Amino acid sequence: MLRFAPSPTGDMHIGNLRVALFNYIVSKQKNEELIVRIEDTDKERNIEGKDKEILEILDLFGIEYSQVMYQSHNARFHSAMALQLLHEIKAFSCFCSSEWLDKKREEAKESKTAYRYDDACSNLPGELVIDNMNPFTVRIRKPLEAIVVKDHIKGEIKFDPNEIDSFIIMRQDKTPTYNFACAVDDMLSDISLVIRGEDHVSNTPKQILIRTSLGYTKNIEYAHLPIILNDNGKKMSKRDDASSVKWLLEEGYLPSAIANYLILMGNKPPKEIFDIKEAIKWFNLENISKSPARFDINMLKHINKEHLKMLDSKELSRYVGFADEEIGELAKVYLEEVSTTKELKSKIKPIFSEKEIPNEFKESANTIIKVIKNAPYFEEYEDFKNYVMKESALKGKNFFKPLRLLLTGAEHGPDIAVIYKYIKNYIGEIVK
Ligand code: GLU
Repeated sequence: MLRFAPSPTGDMHIGNLRVALFNYIVSKQKNEELIVRIEDTDKERNIEGKDKEILEILDLFGIEYSQVMYQSHNARFHSAMALQLLHEIKAFSCFCSSEWLDKKREEAKESKTAYRYDDACSNLPGELVIDNMNPFTVRIRKPLEAIVVKDHIKGEIKFDPNEIDSFIIMRQDKTPTYNFACAVDDMLSDISLVIRGEDHVSNTPKQILIRTSLGYTKNIEYAHLPIILNDNGKKMSKRDDASSVKWLLEEGYLPSAIANYLILMGNKPPKEIFDIKEAIKWFNLENISKSPARFDINMLKHINKEHLKMLDSKELSRYVGFADEEIGELAKVYLEEVSTTKELKSKIKPIFSEKEIPNEFKESANTIIKVIKNAPYFEEYEDFKNYVMKESALKGKNFFKPLRLLLTGAEHGPDIAVIYKYIKNYIGEIVK
């Protein structure tokens, strides 16, 4: 069983979508189920409705899953497991106040050493615990031996015992911390492989320690995906618009193209343009580069254009607000110039909108409008043009400039003869 475990705390980041895609592809390859676990235990950071938004995005990208779980629904298991660890003295109650711990952290900072909890409460006599009315957290005992993680992408990573202290697994309000809830849930769901972002590497030994302490012996495999960098070589963050899947969709990138790019980056695919189904045939986690992948919007634009070209005309026309093959064909002509559905709309919409004609061409435009309104239907642009030219008695710039403006709403653009092919049935709507 594989899992995708997003937190409902903000817009879905492309890094998260990449994690979801990889989990989906590998679950199909291994013929194992994929579950979605909404990690909603950090109540203060949760944002209402983000869970639904995440699920909608997964649907839009064709990422199928067998089940959606909410981590908060497992609260009773988290408590039971913490209790088990306390009974077995693998965890202990810690009464250190947050002010005290902050002071210790500050001291460590001043002496330029890494802060580690000093185990002050690890061996309190029973009566000191039972008589203590102060709030307490539950901490798991630190490991005695090194913890080795064999990562599918990063290779073997060894964590020395002194890198991990006795960390908190239950907060004072008795809610589980991320590491505890995550480790327990992966165990309860019988997860075989965890694919997630590199920012979680340092959590992995902690989660392994939790499960080992609980007596769970099954090995869970790991693959941590390198971070995605922006143009400036910095980690892509909320400040980068393109980091938000919602933003990319609104900008007119197709889900199939976004998926294509996220699977392609930092990878060695056999081809550049593909869909998820094809990727399932050749995708290999071991081919993912260890170094960060750089997000290149121009590459995404190129891929998007290729995916738009592959759509059939009717489908493409829907993306620009029509349901008509001819408009789809017309959009394909404009694809020579632009790469997103938003840009395509900005080309198609002016064709059917009120036209703004510069003063110098207003008179000629009015003459042309009158002629076109009374013109018969012409199959060929040449015949249409010759007719309008003759009847309007205009020529050169005074004819071609206003004609293009009237037919397309733009001064420049693709060959008007090509455009005419697809708009000839709508001339009455276009030239009003
Ligand atoms: N909820 C975590 C996140 O969104 C992911 C945890 C995990 O995959 O283990 O970053």
